[in-house]
Amino acid sequence: MATQITATEELLSYVEEISHPEDAVLTELRTLTAELPGGSAMQIPPGEGRLLAMLVGLTGAATVLEIGTYTGYSTLCMARALPPGGRLITCDINKKTTAIAAEFWARAGVADRIDPRLGDADDTLAALSADSVDLVFIDADKASYPAYYRKSVSLVRPGGLIVIDNTLFFSRVLDPTADDPDTTAIREVNKLVQSDDRVETCVLPVADGITLARKKQI
Ligand code: SAH
Ligand code: CA
Repeated sequence: MATQITATEELLSYVEEISHPEDAVLTELRTLTAELPGGSAMQIPPGEGRLLAMLVGLTGAATVLEIGTYTGYSTLCMARALPPGGRLITCDINKKTTAIAAEFWARAGVADRIDPRLGDADDTLAALSADSVDLVFIDADKASYPAYYRKSVSLVRPGGLIVIDNTLFFSRVLDPTADDPDTTAIREVNKLVQSDDRVETCVLPVADGITLARKKQI
C-alpha cells in the first residue's frame, strides 16, 4: 500500500536515532532480559514503551491494568507516565520474572505505584470491578486474548482505552497454514474488536501490531 512505509531495519534504526533514548534503568532491564531463557522477544521494543507512556499521559489514566508483566519493561514505561496518586495493577504467573521486575521498579523509584498480582490473569481480572480501570494493556498468553478482551471491555470505564499487543503476530495472521491456538486466538480477537459496537478502534501497524479500542461513552 503506497500510503504505508515498509519498516526496514535501517529505517527502524533511524527511528531510534531520532527518538529520546531509553534511560539507564530501562537499558539495563532490556540487557538483563535478553540473557534470560525467554529472552527479549516477549518484551515490547523501546518505541512501543514510548507509545504506551504517551497513551497513559495523554489519556490521564490514573488506574492502569496490565495483563502480562514479564520483567516489567512495559509496566515501568506506563508507571512513569501515571499522574500523582495513579496506580498500575499488573499480573503474571511467573514468580521469577515478576521478582526481576519488582527490583527494577524499585530502582526506578516507581514501586509504590505498582501493584503486582502473582497468579492467573483470570483471578486478577475477576477481583476487579466493572468500569474501574482507565486503561488496559493486554500482553499475556495469546490463546486467552478473546477472553481478556471481553473482560477488559467490562473493566474499563466508558471513554477508557484497551491496548492489545501483538495483533499482527509477526504476520502469522495472514498465513493460511498457521492454525495453532495462539494465531487462531489473535485472529479471533481481531474480529471480535472489529465487530464490537461498544468500542471505536484503530489498528497500528507498529512493532508487532497494536490495537487501540476505546470504549464509547454511553
Ligand atoms: N508486557 C511484557 C511482556 C509480557 S510477555 C513486556 O513488554 O515486557 C507475556 C507474559 O504473560 C509472560 O511473562 C507470561 O508468564 C505471562 N502469562 C502467561 N500466561 C498467563 C496467565 N494465564 N496469567 C497471567 N500471566 C500469564
Ligand atoms: Ca507483547
